[in-house]
Amino acid sequence: MLPEIGPEPAGDGTPFSELTTMRVGGPAERVLVAHAVDELVAYAQGLWDTDEPWMLLGGGSNTVMHDDGFAGTVLLVRTNGIAPVADDALPEGKIRLRVQAGHDWDHLVAACVDNGWSGVEALSGIPGLAGAAPVQNIGAYGQELSDVLHSIEFLDRERGHARRIPADALGLAYRDSAIKQGLEGVVLSIDIVLSVGEESPGRRAHAAPEVLSEPIAYEQLASALGVELGERVPIRDLRDSVLRLRASKGMVLDAADHDTWSCGSFFTNPIVSEHFARELPESAPRFPQPVPEPEDAITTFAELEAGLPVRVPPPPPERMVKLSAAWLIDRAGVRRGFRLPGSGAAISSKHTLAITNQGGASAGDVAELARFVVQRVQQEFGVILAPEPNLYGLEL
Ligand SMILES: Cc1cc2nc3c(=O)[nH]c(=O)nc-3n(C[C@H](O)[C@H](O)[C@H](O)COP(=O)(O)OP(=O)(O)OC[C@H]3O[C@@H](n4cnc5c(N)ncnc54)[C@H](O)[C@@H]3O)c2cc1C
Repeated sequence: MLPEIGPEPAGDGTPFSELTTMRVGGPAERVLVAHAVDELVAYAQGLWDTDEPWMLLGGGSNTVMHDDGFAGTVLLVRTNGIAPVADDALPEGKIRLRVQAGHDWDHLVAACVDNGWSGVEALSGIPGLAGAAPVQNIGAYGQELSDVLHSIEFLDRERGHARRIPADALGLAYRDSAIKQGLEGVVLSIDIVLSVGEESPGRRAHAAPEVLSEPIAYEQLASALGVELGERVPIRDLRDSVLRLRASKGMVLDAADHDTWSCGSFFTNPIVSEHFARELPESAPRFPQPVPEPEDAITTFAELEAGLPVRVPPPPPERMVKLSAAWLIDRAGVRRGFRLPGSGAAISSKHTLAITNQGGASAGDVAELARFVVQRVQQEFGVILAPEPNLYGLEL
């Protein structure tokens, strides 16, 4: 059984198959569990002093470990708590919350919905812990963490101390961040800014506040709720609808359903040039990406006087489009439920993008199937899919 997030019997030698939602992977040589932030800081600094291999693990829902396990120390983040932060700079109608890194993400969303704070309701049902949320800038159903993230408290390995990093200095992009790109350290807590919704007039005394969600930014969600894109619905209805949609795709953890023994989407949606996308079949879904602002190429007098060279305007940025990895995989002939002979890993029977452990899969099985998918899509469309989860000791 996958341990509940929270106090748990994880000790030295615990296999990753018990610590991750894909439920594969060999033993962690040494396991440290931090229940308080001081402990988390002390453990991390102690590990850095020894220079031995170490890694962080939250809920293990975006991590796939090799069958040989990890020859080093795994630091499990199990801190907890949400608290409002006083902030004079906040506009009216906003609230800033500080969430400890080990707080369960969906418990946070549920608490926000209960309190009528909007901004994360479409991120309902995403497994894992708050501290990992900025690592890949979690997103779903038209919302992303970057929409609400104010800053993080980060124990920086290079600097050796904790510092507050504003969200706009974190390189947050589609399933990406400076941390994912190698900024080494520990997210101790995250601060998010949400809207304090107005309660609907005439609601019953003692009833939970019925406030409205943020405008809906995802077609499928709008249609499930029977509204137009951009409309708002009661925040609780939005959460319920997201949870229903996610469950129908095997995207809500359920120990009894092998389709959820996964990391969610195994591949990111590739972003390619519009030029390249023209070569794909007409039916391939394409989502135009925002065009970056052109760089300011006007040389100032001050720069000329300082002897700096005249700046040459860069070529206009290429227009990019996001493709659907699920569509590419399906059209490359790898259908839902597909599995290689003798393998315990299979494509989810509910969603083409999820590689799942159907019972008894090894990390080797998962990686082999992932490699097969990458190869088929590359052969068929010339697109190289990139894995979304963090792979340890495994190569595609
Ligand atoms: C069924 C299912 C559905 C999913 N759906 C979505 C979805 O809709 N959208 C989405 O974006 N993701 C989704 N995911 C992926 C996953 O839930 C998220 O990426 C989540 O944020 C991972 O959290 P975690 O605590 O489990 O991370 P872990 O797997 O424990 O860690 C992930 C990475 O972050 C690092 N890390 C963990 N904690 C910290 C910390 N405190 N400081 C610094 N680094 C840290 C780890 O070292 C590791 O490299 C899904 C996964 C599953 C299983």
